[in-house]
Formats: sequence, structure tokens, C-alpha cells
Amino acid sequence: MGRVFNFSAGPSQLPESVLKIAASEMLDYHGCGQSIMEMSHRSKVYDDIIKECESLLRTVMQIPDNYKVLFLQGGASSQFAMVPMNLMTKNGKADYVLTGVWAKKAYKEASRYGKCRVVASSEDQNFNYIPKLKKEDFDPEADYVHICMNNTIYGTWYNEIPDTGDVPLVADVSSCILSRPIDVSKFGVLYAGAQKNMAPAGVTVVIIREDLVGHAMDITPTMFNYQTHVDAKSMFNTPPCYCIYIMKLVLEWIQNEVGGIKKMETRNMKKQKVMYDFLNDSPFFNPTVPAKEDRSWMNAPFTMVKPELEEQFLKEAEYYGFYNLKGHRSVGGFRASIYNAMPIEGVEELVFFMDEFQRRNAPELCQDL
Ligand SMILES: *Cc1c(COP(=O)(O)O)cnc(C)c1O
Repeated sequence: MGRVFNFSAGPSQLPESVLKIAASEMLDYHGCGQSIMEMSHRSKVYDDIIKECESLLRTVMQIPDNYKVLFLQGGASSQFAMVPMNLMTKNGKADYVLTGVWAKKAYKEASRYGKCRVVASSEDQNFNYIPKLKKEDFDPEADYVHICMNNTIYGTWYNEIPDTGDVPLVADVSSCILSRPIDVSKFGVLYAGAQKNMAPAGVTVVIIREDLVGHAMDITPTMFNYQTHVDAKSMFNTPPCYCIYIMKLVLEWIQNEVGGIKKMETRNMKKQKVMYDFLNDSPFFNPTVPAKEDRSWMNAPFTMVKPELEEQFLKEAEYYGFYNLKGHRSVGGFRASIYNAMPIEGVEELVFFMDEFQRRNAPELCQDL
């Protein structure tokens, strides 16, 4: 079978050239006579891989020197606890903006460790927008402000980074990291599970400003203390070796094949334009996020005016090789996740299919197209 276009929200597609390199190096990595999966993480060969991965991430994202980069496990979900355990220790309080399920989970978990306040929420409209935030909305005494930068389920993202003054900004960037340049210096902590835009599931990237390390609560498990992993350079215990290796290949792909993060942004900009231009003009499919500036470039949820045809649409889509378009149950309809590795052809062909589907199933609506 040929490769399909996988529109899953995660785990998601990886660049084909990365998979090919990984396949060619599977049995014998660079003359080592073994696979990376089988190798000691303390070996010189592996040490070079993890160092190169960090160095590439620093280059691609232009991470300033006063930030540490950690490769951890436990997914973004573990960060929901790790962040408060390490940062909510000055005044014992933090501000949270609720823009979806993940943001709420982060808030709920952090509330177990201190006083969390909801600064703003978009739950009144099923999270289909990003609340407008002013500096005065935030508590200057808060130990940090937490946001979820891209809301994977609802298809919204922050077009502008909120100004929190001197309060460190912590952002879950699981589903938008590496999709376009981001000014790391505006954040205290950035964290992301890898399985959307970076690597297979199993590694979590944490980018943390140095001065925020070393203040964990006494109850913090050793494995949940950022200091542990800073001291051991992400090698306190066995790291997710293979995932980190794939991440290195993905970063090389961004640098060498795509041409850097600015080019990545241009590519993603074009892809989302094809998607949303079609949805805007379609009398049959509708995007679920009304405000254009809030629409995520990574996840595009949409509905159709004849919901009785949803099953048929998904079946036909799969027949043509467009996989995992079913929307999340809390939004319904459909969702096309078009992360970095989705080529523009994938979006163009999907839109072509959707156009044909609407003309065939709702000719009465499509006369003016
Ligand atoms: C997928 C996702 C998560 C959950 O990540 P895990 O690595 O599975 O814990 C958290 N936040 C956002 C924004 C996500 O998209």
C-alpha cells in the first residue's frame, strides 16, 4: 500500500525522508553493527546524538544561552504537575488561562499544589476563541502564568504572546512547536510532547530559563525536579533514546530540506491558507472557529451542513487515502491536523476531494461556485 495522508491530531505523520533515513540506519547505525535502540545511552555514539539534537533545537528555535533544554518522559501531561511543583514556590499561586481541555487539565493538576486562579476562559463558547488579555489581568504576585499556545482539539491558537510583565510565562506548545519562529526569551518555560510536530511519542521537550530551576517543593519526586535533569543533562536515567534520534533527524530535515524555521512558517502559512480559503468559500463545510486571527495553522476543525453524511464523508476520505479526519467528540464534525510533516499536496488533494464531495452531495448549494 502507498503512504496515506494522515490528518491525525497526534501521533501524526513524520517526514517521509526522515523515515527513510531511519529505516536505512535501523540495523547498522553508521557502522556500529547495531541499532540505536540497542545501544547504551552512555556510549560515545549516543552521546553525540543527544548533544547534536539539543544543538540543532537551539539553532532552529534560536534558544538563548540562559535557557536549559531538557529531554524528558511522561508526556506534556506530566508537565501539568512538574511546572507547579518547580515554579509555584515563591508565593504559592499561579494564573491560568483556560482555552480548552489541555489548558483545563493543566489548571486542575496545578490546583493540587497551590492557589490557581482562572484569569480568563473561552469555555462559554466551547473554546472556539482566544480571550483578549491585558497585562493588568494578571496577578503581579503570581509565580507564573500558564497558557496553552495551540489548542489542538478546538483549533485555536495565540497569534500574539500575552504580556505578563515580570511574571514568567509558561506555555504548553505541544501542538505548535517548530511550526513557526517563537521568541523564546518571552517565556519562562516552554514544554511540548513530541508526537505532534517533532518525533514519535515518548519524549517531552522542556525549555526553561535558568533562574527558574532549583526552587522545587520539598515533596517533589527526584524525577519531577528540573534540577535533577539539568544536572544530569537529561541523562539522570535512560532517556527515550530512539525518539531523541528521530527528533534529531526531524530537526535536520527542517534545517537542510525545508530551509529553516522561517521557511517552515511559509510552508505552514500556505497550507493553512489553502485549507481555510476553501472552508471560507464553501457553502457546505464550515470552520468552527469564527475569528480568523484565532484559527490554528496546525489543527483545522470544521463541520458540514448535512451531518447525516458525516460517516459517508469519512469512509470516502479514507478510500482516497485521507486518514483520521474525524473531529474530537467535544467539537464534533471533522478536524484536519496539518502539522509540519504534512506536505502541501496533502492539503491540496484533501480540499480537491472536499470540493468534489460537496458538489456531488449538495449541488443545490454549489451552483455559484
Ligand atoms: C497532545 C497534547 C497534550 C498531551 O500530551 P501527552 O504527551 O500525551 O501528555 C497536551 N497538551 C496539548 C496542547 C496537546 O496537544
